[in-house]
Amino acid sequence: MLQKVSVGRKDLNLYRGVVGDELIDEIIDLAKELKGYRFAHINSTPFGGGVAEILASFIPLLQSVGVDIEWRVIFGDRQFFDITKGFHNGLQGADFSLTKQVQERYMGNLLFNARQLPHHYDLITINDPQPAALPYFIPHSKTKWVWRCHIDMAKPNRQVWDFLRPFIEHYHLAIFTMSAFEPPDLDVAIDIITPAIDILSTKNMGMPLDFAKKVIANQGVDIHKPLLLQVSRFDPWKDPMGVVKTYQLIKQEYKGIQLAFVGSMSQDDPQGWQMFADISEASLKDPSIYIFTNVTGVGNLEVNAFQRASTIILQKSIKEGFGLVVSEALWKQTPVVAGKAGGIVLQMHHELGDYLTETIEETAKKVCHLLKNPGLAQELGAIGKKQVMEHFLMPRMIKQELEAYITLLQRSR
Ligand code: UDP
Repeated sequence: MLQKVSVGRKDLNLYRGVVGDELIDEIIDLAKELKGYRFAHINSTPFGGGVAEILASFIPLLQSVGVDIEWRVIFGDRQFFDITKGFHNGLQGADFSLTKQVQERYMGNLLFNARQLPHHYDLITINDPQPAALPYFIPHSKTKWVWRCHIDMAKPNRQVWDFLRPFIEHYHLAIFTMSAFEPPDLDVAIDIITPAIDILSTKNMGMPLDFAKKVIANQGVDIHKPLLLQVSRFDPWKDPMGVVKTYQLIKQEYKGIQLAFVGSMSQDDPQGWQMFADISEASLKDPSIYIFTNVTGVGNLEVNAFQRASTIILQKSIKEGFGLVVSEALWKQTPVVAGKAGGIVLQMHHELGDYLTETIEETAKKVCHLLKNPGLAQELGAIGKKQVMEHFLMPRMIKQELEAYITLLQRSR
């Protein structure tokens, strides 16, 4: 059977003090309408990356209001995940050689996974391209299928998209993060739901600044010098080498500046190890560049501390899905300078929009401006927190997802 991810317990009612009773009561009413139905979310990794981050909160929060929902992950070997990372990159526009062998390997793996999937669910949400062909192998089930796409597919590689599109058109609904991400020729019902963060999780919960500083000092960072941080998977779209070059430019003016990468490895992203090796090589030449990973014990608590105790957070993405890390940083009132890409633009509007950049030079310039004006940096941090509070908290997303489920299930009655 497909591996079920153990999520522990959370309580949506704890959000009453944050978002008010009305929204939580609405969610509880929606959950009541879904009594008796069984749901699952499926993706390709239980840790590392935004989807796993969302599900780790979304699933137990829904369970806490009585929704019968589980999270399962597909099996895959190195070769399969090399292929699906190629699909992921291809759907975001990169080149990919889609040979017959690649197609057969993908299909063979998903046929195996389809046989391992329990058949009792009324509605299954499949996340991203890795498991996308699953419903194709379960053609006569009564299950409603939702494809939850977290990436920017506006200009997909034609070959990859022509191969995957017929599978996606098996779904009853596709959910995208923003309408700009929809591929041009997809014939399926579409909904737009923006992701969100769980501010009560270990990664985002309140933490005194002096404690955060102690945590990062324990990792070897000098807390008396300014620190730039990028938290992300080691992925070409997150442009880690561009971050190093940005830092090197800033260092010409700020000799004491430090740079930390906090990067996660995930089961479905074999490309991460190569990128990690490349950045490690660059960092060996400069003792003020630090690289930390989940593999060596930098987990949610440490990420929380780094996001609070850094001077400025970079997210130099060239292409981005939503970019949860931006809301995580803004929630902690740390100013962010980020690539003008995908969902980052949604999260950084008004005054924060001035810190969206497209080149290394521009990024360095904006960072230097904030280093020179700590008062401004603080102001931006406060604006950021307010924007996250208004738009990017988990209960809003939960409500929208439940509404989508109800619409789909009622349509079938
Ligand atoms: N993350 C983490 N540890 C790391 C690096 C990243 O826990 O070392 C988390 C990060 O805090 C965020 C998620 O991974 O919650 C990344 O999500 P995002 O949407 O920013 O990017 P994705 O990986 O989905 O492209």
